[in-house]
Amino acid sequence: MKLRSIRDGEFNGKRVLVRVDFNVPIMDGQIVDDTRIRAALPSIVHLIKGGAKVILCSHLGRPNGQVVDGLRLDPIAPVLRDVLNFALVRSGMSPVKVAKLDSCIGSEVEAEVARIDEGMVGLLENLRFEAGETANDPVFAKQLSELADVYVSDAFGTVHRAHASTEGVAHLLPAYAGFLVEREVEELGKVLHNPRRPLTVVLGGAKISGKLEILHNLLPIADNLLIGGAMANTFLKAQGMETGASLVEDSLLDEANSLLLKAGEHDTHLMLPTDYVVTTNIQEAERVGTVPTESLQQDDIAADIGEETRATYANVIKDSGTVFWNGPMGVFEKDEFAGGTMAIATALSELQFQAHTVVGGGESVAAIKRAGVADRISHVSTGGGASLEFVAGRELPGLKVLLNNS
Ligand code: ADP
Ligand code: MG
Repeated sequence: MKLRSIRDGEFNGKRVLVRVDFNVPIMDGQIVDDTRIRAALPSIVHLIKGGAKVILCSHLGRPNGQVVDGLRLDPIAPVLRDVLNFALVRSGMSPVKVAKLDSCIGSEVEAEVARIDEGMVGLLENLRFEAGETANDPVFAKQLSELADVYVSDAFGTVHRAHASTEGVAHLLPAYAGFLVEREVEELGKVLHNPRRPLTVVLGGAKISGKLEILHNLLPIADNLLIGGAMANTFLKAQGMETGASLVEDSLLDEANSLLLKAGEHDTHLMLPTDYVVTTNIQEAERVGTVPTESLQQDDIAADIGEETRATYANVIKDSGTVFWNGPMGVFEKDEFAGGTMAIATALSELQFQAHTVVGGGESVAAIKRAGVADRISHVSTGGGASLEFVAGRELPGLKVLLNNS
């Protein structure tokens, strides 16, 4: 996938509208995790260096087309100013001011945007205060496009959405992919196209249903497919095993069987847990113990993969050339059931970059951070849903508009 790169754009003196993903977690007006803000810095610094007048725009939360005061981007401005200026000064440039605007379209915004110069970065108000954003309304896209001469997309987390700021506007201005989008596409692409082998895919999480497309797309390419989380229960039950009171998708038993068959046809080594950490009550973590998967009792709930499974999976990971991981191995939100997920995180980090390791998905990325090993993973995707749709082989509207067709 060849995208028009920010490297190839000419930005000197131009007003550049940059769609970033500043949808950060905020608690009591404070940003809890600024990863997404930092992830946008390389593009912003590059544009300022190139003499651009930068206008940033993002959504935050789900205000559903209405102004919600708690979802204004105001708490983001000072954090952005600090991390951006640190990055600018480090690359030998002068610090800039961050001008937070009170809206994202309209005559006042236009007037303020016209005042933006090289020493200033504009930050528009939450795009989703406008119903036209998620509706990909052409009128709203036009209004956005009129604020700038050029468009840069660096919000990888929303490229799976055809919204005005991610798709519509890209038809109206010269459009480029920022460094973050470029890097995500390259790193996730290495899993799908000519991966260093063996390619091991570790999939977990709550449901097969949410991951069917990923399973179908990765199963033929993968050498090993290690299954954990509640989705493993459905595979085990499909094979006739007692799954007790565990979470199972009964409507997908046939689907699970056909996936097992498909694995056979493609010579993919599909592995299921051989032991489970079980409980009779997940919330209270009652009567926790480890049992072989074939001896689950009626009131047992599988809440994590057991020691034996962890060791087997870690061994497969150790000998891999590429590892893609999505979805926790158990109910990792509770310490009692986090061991399996932490074991996978550790196994990936112990490869010490000898294999290409990629982690995608909301909860899996949280687990990698909680294990404190994010800096020993080749690529921790900022994408959530977007990275999953990418590896599922879907065409993503926010990337399609950036394709270099020349
Ligand atoms: P991701 O966001 O990384 O794609 P998912 O959203 O698919 O992951 O799944 C995450 C959820 O799956 C977690 O909240 C976790 O508690 C749940 N989960 C994992 N294993 C089990 C299990 N054995 N039983 C019930 N829920 C589970
Ligand atoms: Mg999730």
